[in-house]
Amino acid sequence: MRFCLLASGSKGNCVWVEEDGRAIIVDNGLSFVELKKRAQSAGINLASVRDVIISHEHTDHVQGVGPAARKLGLTVHVSQPTAEAAGAHLKNLAIRHFEPGQTLDFGFLKVKTITGSHDCADPSVFVVEGGRHRLGLATDLGVATALVRQEFSGLSALILEFNHDLQMLLSGPYPYFLKQRVRSRKGHLSNEQAAELLHELQHHNLQQVVLAHLSEVNNTPALALAAALASFGQSPPPVAAASQWEPTEVFTL
Ligand SMILES: [Zn+2]
Ligand SMILES: [Zn+2]
Repeated sequence: MRFCLLASGSKGNCVWVEEDGRAIIVDNGLSFVELKKRAQSAGINLASVRDVIISHEHTDHVQGVGPAARKLGLTVHVSQPTAEAAGAHLKNLAIRHFEPGQTLDFGFLKVKTITGSHDCADPSVFVVEGGRHRLGLATDLGVATALVRQEFSGLSALILEFNHDLQMLLSGPYPYFLKQRVRSRKGHLSNEQAAELLHELQHHNLQQVVLAHLSEVNNTPALALAAALASFGQSPPPVAAASQWEPTEVFTL
């Protein structure tokens, strides 16, 4: 399995996952021009992508889905409440609805859909299974629920939200209501909350961790990486921080 975060953060998200030369993307908040540019710079062939899976309706996850789906001929997999909430972003596309908890079977990959906790119609996080590997993908998660903790055990790799440093959020420029929203159970994971989850999920076969959806206002990659590394014992797995502005490396499991 190979994967790459082409963009991560409140201005746009897109994760590419490939197995045996075929691929899916999860969310797309990038314009098609930007998606193509980033895929090319990462050495990714978008022609191998056939399906896009949607986590939730916020614009940083859906605003580029329509153009990408039309230009690449993608089938859009989305829960019905999310599709309704996404409205015009998913208009006139080839849609397949999933129920939370359902596993989407693409043959080369399987994607388990898991209910998350976020201020949207029907938040989903995912575990992508291909070959012997399982990749967990959780951003836009207010709290690591018991369900997420359970489904994310024994992963080969993990893409996990490290949204904000709590001190930076509290002393930062956001208005009070927005600070409360970010911190709430339907907001975003702080570095501390994510590190605690990472500590719980670590095991000897965890091969790669990617810190995702970092706030550009309330976090820094250095703070997020320090929190993540502190959650591990003596021999941490490779840990990388994703960026809003450029793709990560293409990780191979
Ligand atoms: Zn988001
Ligand atoms: Zn969101």
